[in-house]
Amino acid sequence: MTIRDLVILGCSSQHPTRLRNHGAYFLRWNGEGFLFDPGEGTQRQFIFAEISPPAVTRILISHFHGDHCLGLGSMLMRLNIDRVTHPIHCYYPASGKTYFDRLRYGTAYHSTIEVIEHPISEAGVVQDDGAFKIEAAFLDHGIDNVAYRITEPDTIKFDKEKLKAKGIKGPLVKELEEKKTLTIDGKTVTLDEVSWVRPGDVFAFVLDTRYCQNAIDISKDAKMLLCESTYLEEHKHLAASYQHLTAKEAATIAKKAGAERLILTHFSARYRDLSEFEKEAREIFPNTYVADDFKRFPFAHQ
Ligand SMILES: [Zn+2]
Ligand SMILES: [Zn+2]
Repeated sequence: MTIRDLVILGCSSQHPTRLRNHGAYFLRWNGEGFLFDPGEGTQRQFIFAEISPPAVTRILISHFHGDHCLGLGSMLMRLNIDRVTHPIHCYYPASGKTYFDRLRYGTAYHSTIEVIEHPISEAGVVQDDGAFKIEAAFLDHGIDNVAYRITEPDTIKFDKEKLKAKGIKGPLVKELEEKKTLTIDGKTVTLDEVSWVRPGDVFAFVLDTRYCQNAIDISKDAKMLLCESTYLEEHKHLAASYQHLTAKEAATIAKKAGAERLILTHFSARYRDLSEFEKEAREIFPNTYVADDFKRFPFAHQ
């Protein structure tokens, strides 16, 4: 089993602080590396986190405010320097193509990597390549802003005792999985009789938005939801005017979506102590944790 975890590379909002870098989030899952919203300084955060940048296979940008994308150019440049041979898939709101290009080609370097762009102009399935399904929804932030939902494929799990009882072993297991039925000693065995389906896990990413139904829908039954909560309840008027969420609103989204775990991030620089975010959110959604630079949240396979 490969590493499955979410590594926080930064968790500030617009203004980084001495303790919190611009946001950037790295999800390691089934041998892939999803880099979300690489803000300024992301390349260096990889070094502190002791993760090699070539682990990145996909870069997902929610929107083109600087704190969510200023590190894109340097990350792509770094992947060139490291002579990455696998393609880098990049997902971003299509209306921000100009910004994407400026960031990608902002400096002089010899480009060798293969970048596969997925500009997103409508909600729904963006890509389903067999390894993962990536879906998008548009949020409410005054600029095109995409929330992502990533799902791994369902897997067939065999009941070892039942297989044994039916005398199925070795290559016959593979054959049954492929053909769905097998005749052994004159008796027919169907796949359903000796196996069950493990539904693929879901990770949801909701950053920079007002409270909205799309944020709930895209996070439905997510095993882990990474959600912004720029403000505490006492500053909810600021959340409303700057089109952001409070910790309580993020918790309500997680609760209504039926998510399993909520990670809060994108904190305003006005707050030094983040424990209050956890406290407020837990009143509504107990399984809440606050992000912090270099914190790792296991995304366990069960
Ligand atoms: Zn932001
Ligand atoms: Zn924003």
